[in-house]
Amino acid sequence: MKIICIGRNYANHAKEMKAELPTEPVFFMKPDTALLKDEDFYIPNFTKDLHHEIELVLKINKAGKHIEEQFAHKYYNEIGLGIDFTARDIQATCKEKGLPWEKAKAFDNSAPIGKFISKETLNINKITFELKINGVSKQIGTSADLIFSFDKIISYVSQFVSLKVGDLIYTGTPEGVGQVNVGDKLQGFLNNELFLKLNVL
Ligand code: MG
Repeated sequence: MKIICIGRNYANHAKEMKAELPTEPVFFMKPDTALLKDEDFYIPNFTKDLHHEIELVLKINKAGKHIEEQFAHKYYNEIGLGIDFTARDIQATCKEKGLPWEKAKAFDNSAPIGKFISKETLNINKITFELKINGVSKQIGTSADLIFSFDKIISYVSQFVSLKVGDLIYTGTPEGVGQVNVGDKLQGFLNNELFLKLNVL
């Protein structure tokens, strides 16, 4: 399986990153070795500024390529919550030099994932999600604020990369990204229900 991540998909996050609003989806990938299902996460020693990005995640349940937007909803059946961990200091250096971001985004365990729920039980256009650190709210988002909808993302990405069963799409983070530190306890909520727990070590 592969992990596809969408960047700059919430206007206020693009603003806090001083990035332009995208006119088409921005995506990058993480390898399967980035996926973390455990509750313990060790900060890698190559970064001094590891950032959390809480994101809604789509689970692909049907293989496809060149998927039309009107049919895209048939290609995912579950939605979950994940974190797109980012070594912000390394990413800044890569961006400055015009180099790819992989070192900052695709490292081992950089994609913690929580539980999933059937999309049929959700109002897709109004899913709220939140990240708390040590009980304090850090990021709150709603799918109503997505620049590019889930269907648009699936359609767009599948023009370039075939989707396979089990692939995950991290759909972008709202504003409020920031540093995590050793000892932090992270909790992710989807519609106020706990979906993800992580101890930072
Ligand atoms: Mg992200």
